[in-house]
Amino acid sequence: MSNYVPAEGPKPCRIMLVGEAPGKDENRERRPFVGKSGKELDHAYLPLAGLRRSQVYITNLWKYQPPGNRDPKPDEIATGLLELLDEIDHVNPEIIICAGRISAGALLGNQVNMYREHGIPQWFGNRILIPVYHPAAGLHDSKNMTFILDDYRNVARVIRGELQPVSLKLVFSGQYKVASLANIHSHIRAADVVALDTETDEDGKPWSVQLSAKEGEAWVVMVDDKSAISYLQQLLPSKTVIMHNAPYDLMQLRRLGIHVNHFYDTMSMAYLLGNLPMGLKLLAYRLLHQDMMDFSGVVAHATKKNAVDYLNRILEMDFPQPASVIEYVKQVPKIRQPQHIHTKVKALLKKLESDPDADPVEKWKNMKDKDHVVNMIGDMKMGAVSQIPFDLAINYGGQDADVTLQVYNYLLPIITESGLIETLERDMGMIPVIVDMMENGMGVDIHHLSMLSVEFEQRAERLLWEINDEIKLPDGHVFNPNSHDQVKQYAEKHKVILESTEAKYLQKYTDKLPVIGKILEYKHMVKLRSTYVLSLLDKADSDHRVHAQIRHTVADTGRLTSEEPNLQNIPTRTKDGERIRGAFVANVIEDEEN
Ligand code: URA
Repeated sequence: MSNYVPAEGPKPCRIMLVGEAPGKDENRERRPFVGKSGKELDHAYLPLAGLRRSQVYITNLWKYQPPGNRDPKPDEIATGLLELLDEIDHVNPEIIICAGRISAGALLGNQVNMYREHGIPQWFGNRILIPVYHPAAGLHDSKNMTFILDDYRNVARVIRGELQPVSLKLVFSGQYKVASLANIHSHIRAADVVALDTETDEDGKPWSVQLSAKEGEAWVVMVDDKSAISYLQQLLPSKTVIMHNAPYDLMQLRRLGIHVNHFYDTMSMAYLLGNLPMGLKLLAYRLLHQDMMDFSGVVAHATKKNAVDYLNRILEMDFPQPASVIEYVKQVPKIRQPQHIHTKVKALLKKLESDPDADPVEKWKNMKDKDHVVNMIGDMKMGAVSQIPFDLAINYGGQDADVTLQVYNYLLPIITESGLIETLERDMGMIPVIVDMMENGMGVDIHHLSMLSVEFEQRAERLLWEINDEIKLPDGHVFNPNSHDQVKQYAEKHKVILESTEAKYLQKYTDKLPVIGKILEYKHMVKLRSTYVLSLLDKADSDHRVHAQIRHTVADTGRLTSEEPNLQNIPTRTKDGERIRGAFVANVIEDEEN
């Protein structure tokens, strides 16, 4: 039964804390924050803000425990908010701490991205509201505890009057202009430290280099201005260059023949400090209270135009009717005739016409049975700054360089005081090596991978045949080992109730039901082939090299990571995993005819 859990604390009260809704302990005791989260609050967080529980008015947005501890529903939030607003009037707090995105979102009237907004005080009428992570977030993942500790330190600073609510600076608040050689000479040449960013065109080629040597100012050099680029080739090797995500920009600069000898990467600086987001836009919001436009918003029109052109191109091409497939609806096999790609493309075009907010790239990504199209004409492309109104592109690009300089100026003293400058220098020394690794790529033996692909496919087919030979569905239907329903139903018939069809659960029943061992083997085979072998074949370039994105700012441990493809998760402990790993070669093996 769900009880009404009233607020507790003095009235009036300078500080109010608003949670989301009571949990089971609170429901039983009819008091807010008395369970595990409450203990964290009382003993770890409130003391950091210089507070005792008895000094705070503690309440919840919704005063009843939601069934199964789910989030409160919109109607509960609306009802709870009306009561909460009355409480705020009666308690008259100067400072409102909102624990979690639900209560912060309800009071602020919008979706709150806690990663972006936590710990930053803002005005709520004439009161101060601070969104902080919910104590439960720290219990769930200890990494969040660092954020919560920072949040309550900020609460202490707000209470002492040292931290004021932010006033956001609007987008493009600086002076951003196209630069000629003469502009670079007068505004950049004399500076020791220059922030730099690059933009690319729709084909991923460099389009501009933006420079900022003074906060609030940036100069945008177009790559077709040959004299300006040649000047940068002479000038930049003697500067300390600041970039955000330096490996990417260094790669673009190399393509322009520009070399940089001494540089700092603001993303690495944020990573080293450990309690900051990595993205420039998030850093700008959290550190500088600057609200920047995100890339996808800036290029949204261009993205839509690219999408419409791409979809119309598909409509002009001939594609055969797709073959029918067997699917299982509530455990009953059904023959499905997939729609022709033209039918789906027409539906998507109609959607784009009627819904201005539809994201075509996302919708295309989620469309089934389109690989044959992508293999023929490549994938749909997002818009690029080269495709948007020129002034907007200059402002967008310029702001990135300006904000990079501002973030650097903000973080450098903190890095220095934290004794991390040597570590940062060492990390910077690694970045050119990472760029070399990405550019050179890793050689793979295409022949070996193709053989593995055929072999794994045949082994999967044989296993599927053996599984069906044992399970024998009626009317000649095929048992699908990837269907959770079918696997569960089969196990149930043999008096085994499966909690889940994840491998770790299935593993327990291989002795009792040997066919489950085969199902596991089948799934493993299909995964090895599609996730590793086919993905390596797909990503290899014409020189048989795979250029994964290598990052040094992702893993908490500081080790390198790779994406597109992920090269680290290829299984190590199985023979087949070893064989896939064996496809990496120091020297690429040429085709025999060459
Ligand atoms: N979580 C909340 O949001 N409120 C409580 O009272 C307890 C846990």
